[in-house]
Parts: sequence; structure tokens; C-alpha cells
Amino acid sequence: MNSEKSVLVSGIPIGGKHPIVIQSMVNTILSDKEKTLKQIELLKDEGCQLIRIAYSDRKFYNDFKYIIDNATMPVIADIHFDYKLAIEAIEAGASKIRINPGNIKKRNLVSIIKAAKTNKVPIRIGVNSGSLESELLMKYGHPVPEALVESAVNAVRFFENNDFDNIIISIKSSDVTFMYKANIILKEQIPYPIHLGVTEAGGIIRGTVKNSAGIASLLLNGVGDTIRISLSASPIEEIKIAKMLLKSLHLYENAPDIIACPTCSRTTFDVISMQSEIEKIFSRSDKNITIAIMGCVVNGPGEAKEADFGITGTTSQCILFKKGEIIFTGNKDAVLEKLYKEVEKNEKN
Ligand code: SF4
Repeated sequence: MNSEKSVLVSGIPIGGKHPIVIQSMVNTILSDKEKTLKQIELLKDEGCQLIRIAYSDRKFYNDFKYIIDNATMPVIADIHFDYKLAIEAIEAGASKIRINPGNIKKRNLVSIIKAAKTNKVPIRIGVNSGSLESELLMKYGHPVPEALVESAVNAVRFFENNDFDNIIISIKSSDVTFMYKANIILKEQIPYPIHLGVTEAGGIIRGTVKNSAGIASLLLNGVGDTIRISLSASPIEEIKIAKMLLKSLHLYENAPDIIACPTCSRTTFDVISMQSEIEKIFSRSDKNITIAIMGCVVNGPGEAKEADFGITGTTSQCILFKKGEIIFTGNKDAVLEKLYKEVEKNEKN
């Protein structure tokens, strides 16, 4: 969507004018292959496009290869420290690898680059403050955003000097303002796609706030090509939130948007339970429509007229609108059933 260059990860384009790609990580043990493959399948059904797996020990090689061979989406290998694991992952068929060049000797990086080039596998260069080079720490005093950007750019130049440009970059932090500033500066200096994320963001509520604050502000500034919402929660929640976040920025088409009024003392029907039911009913829908739930017949229909469908009501009945016109009235269950049928036949998607 935003970077000058784009890369292909097993046929999925990242960067350039392409849509933002949603990814996550499995949290299963690799030796439990079937559980891992099941989680990958569930994540794909939810809307995940790329799955990253920590490949941490060669004792898992056969499991890892089996998972790569049977996964329903491209697998990215997440590698720390051991360059041989990176080469093994590439040879096992990983669609992309993620390494931190700060943790790997230069001559070993050259071996990884060679394997990636031979197998046409992109590499994500992931930089973080824990592995900042000593000369940059001396220069900046602390691992400030500028230091991490310089570290990332130095790594990019090393890859380019080794005739390799199949690159994605990330600078992540658990601090939202840090990752925001670092990625804004990074975008000015490199043409490659950028992977966005806020690490160690926390549980569902705090983690959603931190991820959304950091990722959305960057995407609105034209920075970022692929995202992972990091949560101390099920990866399925990460995908739901990623989709909602992109939808709220008009960067995602395959899901509905649901608007609901905040309620006030004019409220004449139960907006909160209606909103909750509609969220459930359409949680897996791929329809590119907007549904508004408004709490009163006085202001609701007018405020919701831009939506494809609107629901409001009184204490005795609910009212369904389509493009601002009433099309049905009835009790809650009847209106929900009618809404579902209308959305299903809607051709906007
Ligand atoms: Fe209040 Fe009606 Fe506005 Fe809801 S739509 S916030 S009930 S005025």
C-alpha cells in the first residue's frame, strides 16, 4: 500500500499499492503438529493471511517441515541467534524468514542471504533495542528511535551490498510513541515494505488500545504494509482486531462495519444487547456493508442514514432501515432475521 518496493511471499504481495496484509503467530508447541495446523486453519478462516512460527530448535525440524507442507497459508519462520536454523527453515520451505541481524555474525548473515536468494525467500529484518550495536549505543547514549533506525538502515545496506533486496523491515517496541517515531523516520530512509506491531502490548483491552494507537497513526501517515496485533490472548483475537482496525481506516473490504450509538437518556430500546448480537451474527461475514444501531427514533435514523442498514426501536418494537428508508418493523428476533437476509442478498461486496 505504502512502500516504494513490494515483495512477494508465496504469491501474497506486501508493499507498493497492495492492501495491508494481516499476520499472526501460532502459540502451540511445534511437536503437536495437528493442533498447530488446526490453529492455522482457524486463523485463516478468521482472515489471517500469513502465519509466523518460532523455529527455535532443530529437534523440531521434521514437525516444522510437516507443518509447512500441510499449512493452509504461507508460513514465516521466526529465527533467533542461530543462522543454521534460518538456513534449515528456508530449505524446509518457509515462505519468508524473520531474523534480527544484530544477533547474527556478518559472515553467517551472508550464508543466510545466499540460501534466501537461491530459494527466492524474502527476509524480514527485525530490529529491536535489546540488540543495538555497541557503537550506536555509544553514539546515541540510549536505544532511542534514531539509533534503531540507523541500525536497521545499516542492516539494509549490508543486505543490498550482498546483492539482496527481497526485504521487509520492522522496528517494534512496547512503547507506542517510540515505535511511531522510529517508523516515521525509517520510512523516509528505505523503499522497502514495513511490518508494523507494538510488542508486549498486554491483554485484550490494553493491548488493543496500544496496538491501535501505534499502528493506526502510522497507517494514516502512509507508513506500514503488513501488521500483527500482538496480544497476550488467543491469536484469533489478534485477527479480529486487525480486521476491525483496518476496516475503521477504510483499508479492508472483506468485513462489515458496525456503528452503534453510545446511548443516552433518550434511548428507547436496548442498543447494548442489540449491538452485541449483531456483532456475533456478522463476526465472520465478508460483506462490505455498514450497519448502524441507534438508540432512539428521534435522532437515530437521521444520524444513521449514511449506513447501508440501520436499526432503531421503541420499547415495543424494532425498526429496520435500508439507506434511511423503513423496510421492516417487528420484534427483535424478527428484525435480526430480516437484517441477516437483507445483508446476505446485498451485492455491495
Ligand atoms: Fe441518544 Fe438517540 Fe443519539 Fe443514541 S441516537 S445517543 S439514544 S440521541
